[in-house]
Amino acid sequence: MDTKKLYYENCHLYRFSARVTGCESVKGGYAVTLDATAFYPEGGGQACDLGTLGGANVLDVREKGDAILHLCDSPLTVGASVEGVIDEGRRFDLMQQHTGEHIVSGIVCARYGYHNVGFHVGTDVITIDFDGPIPADALAEIETAANRAIWENKPIRCWYPSPEELPTVGYRSKRALDWPVRIVEVPGVDKCACCGVHVAYTGEVGLIKLLSCVKFHQGVRIEMACGGRALALLNTAFDQNRQVSQAFSAKWMQTGEAARKVNERLAAAEYRCAGLERKLWDFVADGYAGKGDVLHFEEGLTPLAVRELADRIAEKSAGTAAVFSGSDGNINVCLVNKTGDVKELGNALKTALNARGGGKPGIFQGTIPTTQKQIEDFFHAIW
Ligand SMILES: [Zn+2]
Repeated sequence: MDTKKLYYENCHLYRFSARVTGCESVKGGYAVTLDATAFYPEGGGQACDLGTLGGANVLDVREKGDAILHLCDSPLTVGASVEGVIDEGRRFDLMQQHTGEHIVSGIVCARYGYHNVGFHVGTDVITIDFDGPIPADALAEIETAANRAIWENKPIRCWYPSPEELPTVGYRSKRALDWPVRIVEVPGVDKCACCGVHVAYTGEVGLIKLLSCVKFHQGVRIEMACGGRALALLNTAFDQNRQVSQAFSAKWMQTGEAARKVNERLAAAEYRCAGLERKLWDFVADGYAGKGDVLHFEEGLTPLAVRELADRIAEKSAGTAAVFSGSDGNINVCLVNKTGDVKELGNALKTALNARGGGKPGIFQGTIPTTQKQIEDFFHAIW
């Protein structure tokens, strides 16, 4: 039996009464049909509505022929009048994203002649794929035009043109369509064949924020957010920027410059630190001059610094330098011998202390998941 599609008559109808015309037990619940419904079924790239129907939870809504099936988690009595309540937040969000998609697609199509060939609604953002290249620097201009369409609060018109009118409408469509075709028009911005639900006025989209534009197949993928999602996203970005501003003691409009300056200072400090470290390693290595095999622990070194220090010590001590740094459970090791082979010693560390790592004949580098005490015991036993 036909189901009257109330969602096409009023996109803001979130509560309605209807009569149950069928209820069948199916996989996952009960397929309920009504004489009329405001629940939008999945279709046209738009997800279905969720909510409750006569106290039962609506888990899924699908169109089957002329009927709309509501998958409910409990059965409803055929012939009874029930109240349907739609998850308003979810529906309004989907309408904001979907209508925003129309606006941006219409603007891109008018400016570049490219078509929307893919649309995806993610958890935070939505993406639109276009079949041609859009320069990333054109994004700001497209975004301004899209938001201008919102500020103009244009009424969105949906209608079924007559067979004679249809060829003259000039609408966007992925493929040629047979009559009847539902046309959705954002005046002056977009005309598109679409079976989805949209807000009544462009102003309800609230805001369109384009986030990125990257190459995708032969065209581009634009990432964007509309309405409540755009606000949530900008709030997150604003909060992050506020934290950066506090951390750098910078005005919130000047955090980029503050971050660049901190990076410059950090690079200069690292350069100076590396120079001082080299001098310190020479000093430490001098203390081991001619001592042969050397076991040395140093605090807080990177794996690279462990290697550099082992290299200097081995050069001066004229034996094997075994240098360690790190905290118990995760210790970096480097063995160096300038004239001999440390492979056997490396393998012994692997066997005795579960060391991981490798190298070449005169060098072994890795990590040891053990304690300084255990390493000391191991070397005292062999050296
Ligand atoms: Zn649509």
